[in-house]
Amino acid sequence: MGKRLIQLAAAVLAVSLAIPSAGAATTNRDGDIMIRVGLASSSSHVPTGELEAAHLENNNSAGYGFGYRFGYYDKGLNFVELARTNDKTIQAAVLKTQNLYYGHVASLDKNTYSSSITSNILVGCYHVRVPGGFDSFEEASEEASRYNDGFVAWIDGDYQVRAGSYATQEEAEEAAADIPDGEVAWTSSYGMNVVKTGTSQILFQYDCGESGRLAIQPDVTGVRETRTWFLNYKYRGGFQFHRRSGGNITVANVLPLEDYVNGVVCYEMGRSWPLEALKAQALCARTYVLRNLNKHDSYGFDICGTASCQAYHGMGTQRSDYGPSEVSMRAVAETAGMVIKYNGRLAETPYSSSFGGASEDAKYIWGTNTETEYPYLRGVEDPYEAGADSINARSSWTVSYTAAQLTKQLQSKGLGTGTSVDRLVLTYSDKGNVIQIVVHWANGQSNTVKASDIRNRFGVDSIRFTVNGSGTGGTPEPEPPATGSDLYINGSQVSGGLDGAYVITSSGSVSKLDGNPYIITGSGSVSPLETFKDQDSGHGTAAPQPGSGTVTVSGSSYTFNGAGWGHQVGMSQFGAYAMANRGFSGEEIIDFYFPGVKITQY
Ligand SMILES: [Zn+2]
Repeated sequence: MGKRLIQLAAAVLAVSLAIPSAGAATTNRDGDIMIRVGLASSSSHVPTGELEAAHLENNNSAGYGFGYRFGYYDKGLNFVELARTNDKTIQAAVLKTQNLYYGHVASLDKNTYSSSITSNILVGCYHVRVPGGFDSFEEASEEASRYNDGFVAWIDGDYQVRAGSYATQEEAEEAAADIPDGEVAWTSSYGMNVVKTGTSQILFQYDCGESGRLAIQPDVTGVRETRTWFLNYKYRGGFQFHRRSGGNITVANVLPLEDYVNGVVCYEMGRSWPLEALKAQALCARTYVLRNLNKHDSYGFDICGTASCQAYHGMGTQRSDYGPSEVSMRAVAETAGMVIKYNGRLAETPYSSSFGGASEDAKYIWGTNTETEYPYLRGVEDPYEAGADSINARSSWTVSYTAAQLTKQLQSKGLGTGTSVDRLVLTYSDKGNVIQIVVHWANGQSNTVKASDIRNRFGVDSIRFTVNGSGTGGTPEPEPPATGSDLYINGSQVSGGLDGAYVITSSGSVSKLDGNPYIITGSGSVSPLETFKDQDSGHGTAAPQPGSGTVTVSGSSYTFNGAGWGHQVGMSQFGAYAMANRGFSGEEIIDFYFPGVKITQY
């Protein structure tokens, strides 16, 4: 397992339970639940994108359709066609209707349309309107073809034919004088042009005021499975464009639920992880999006494609080792339509990379009501996750500060101005996680840091740690194996480990163990023997196993020894990996991390 995979798998999801439950899902005429996903152009929380120009490219070389249809989505998220390219153009850009020039934009390091440059390729905001009304795109487009730079526009629910694009009203007036009954026209601040990329040729203009959202559906045949490139990723489905408050353009990918889930599972977890772990991930991802519909509605989409909602990158990039894999798509297909419910309602299904031994009661992290409303978000001791330690870069970690460095760290987070750290008072839960730290300062003041702020304030990856060996007063854990070759059976170390051990096969031949032996379990899953060796010790090989209670720590240095990465609530992704390797099903993994929930059709 390479480092890259670990990084991908370790995407951390932060979930706020304060988001109100969304309304019913939108089902289109084909019976598909449709999802609008905000496409990220950066790592910012909501990918406002807010582009002056959004470039699309579809590529029919693999038989994935060609050309574009232009229109809008109705309330049922059915695509309503208003226009189409007649030349099977595969590169198109959606521009806000202002004076934009095409050329190299240094700040974006690429060729695009921008108001911040000039060039001789201008898409201007003034046009000449050709007289007449038109009942269909065909009629309008025939008329448009009679003019130089003529194009079809959809303005507040009617077809118009317009021609040319000019930077100033004067230039447009001059041009209008050449066309009988021609008059100068422009759009509102919600208008958008679709142009042929790299040119000033307008393919279609759309302006329906504030509520207007332009849609582009690839493939003029309307029957093919499509792949469309946008900002270096390729996507299934269609696109919706919106000028929020008359500003730049936000972009949503609009596609069926199961296609969306396929574009999440392989990025939130390793694309080649065990099937049953990926199934657990698919169940969480599907449940999450259905619970969070309309979360970012003011931007024109349900949820965003960043890890702050769920990482979503569609069908991946050019690279063949990135994006949905055969096994990740199988996991989605085998759980199609299935969700996680509690008391008949969609459950909250947070997950993060790893917990280092025990998840935590969400009431300590987010103040969630886990007494009655969310009892399935109480912490669980996790005897499985350690089985994935060999591929988990954060299975144990150390962060060391001198007292002065810790003071500086905390001050950089706005605490303790003009003084220095005197001591820390840590409160451990009965699961052994740190749920509160009170920082006492030399000037006698103090700050209480809540569980949800600990990782950020102290610069650590999880809330499962000791400081200078603090908090180890709980039930002593079995000593973890000192090296990879130590072998434990029923909690006792077998001296010498596996080195030099012999195996007898079922046919009676005897040979010395070497390399990395594998084990087949009764249920048929295969794992490295390594995975099983420390299963009785229960926890990460180097992770501290704190007890509960309150501990005071002081001194000239503060060494945080911890395990895991993430918010500590719900499912551990590395735990799911290890459970799947031990033969647990996706449903059993969900049952373990969210005790009491039901898996059912949506
Ligand atoms: Zn989001």
